[in-house]
Amino acid sequence: MTGPLLYLKPDAPVYYYSNRMARAYLMGLEEVLGKNGVNAVLNFAGLRERVAHRPPNDLDLGFEFRELSIIQEALEEMYGRRGGRGLAMRAGRATFKYGLQDFEGVIGIADLALRLIPIGMKLKIGAETFASIFNRFSDQVVVLEEFEDHYIWNNERCAVCWGRHSDEPCCDLAVGILKEGLHWISGGRDFRVEEFECIATGADACRFRIPKRPIG
Ligand SMILES: [Zn+2]
Repeated sequence: MTGPLLYLKPDAPVYYYSNRMARAYLMGLEEVLGKNGVNAVLNFAGLRERVAHRPPNDLDLGFEFRELSIIQEALEEMYGRRGGRGLAMRAGRATFKYGLQDFEGVIGIADLALRLIPIGMKLKIGAETFASIFNRFSDQVVVLEEFEDHYIWNNERCAVCWGRHSDEPCCDLAVGILKEGLHWISGGRDFRVEEFECIATGADACRFRIPKRPIG
């Protein structure tokens, strides 16, 4: 049996997430799958060395985009498309919690959810701060655009689907992180975040629509 494959040219550039971000992701994945489940996915994905060597909690750029994306591919192959995508989304939500804990020292928004400012302002500060984290601490390229009733989060370079081909948008991990971030910022509201274009389907960026109003 062959494991999951990516479609990367031999001369494709190599891009990275910081170790701290990757560590938060693997902790989030472990919350969803359990330790044995994560190790099974890592083995299936061909990332055997990560079973024994999880990324350390530092800001070095030590975790390749292809490692993150091949885990997403592995989840869909092991659990089926629906199951894998659901797990990716849940892992994203859990990842946000660990990321928030680990990054609060460098971003200074730990109290944002509690501040007595309008929710629209909180969303703006939160979205801009989250985008800046990816831009500062990884090679992912995020451009945030604001419109009257929504934001568009553009991953112009995206780790989640790096080298993947898909017939539908597949960056569910990113959707989960954004949903949980908005849930936290808003004091427990839910937002309908949707990826409507994806590099894995041939688009030039992965684009996520973030409404300014919560569901209901
Ligand atoms: Zn993507």
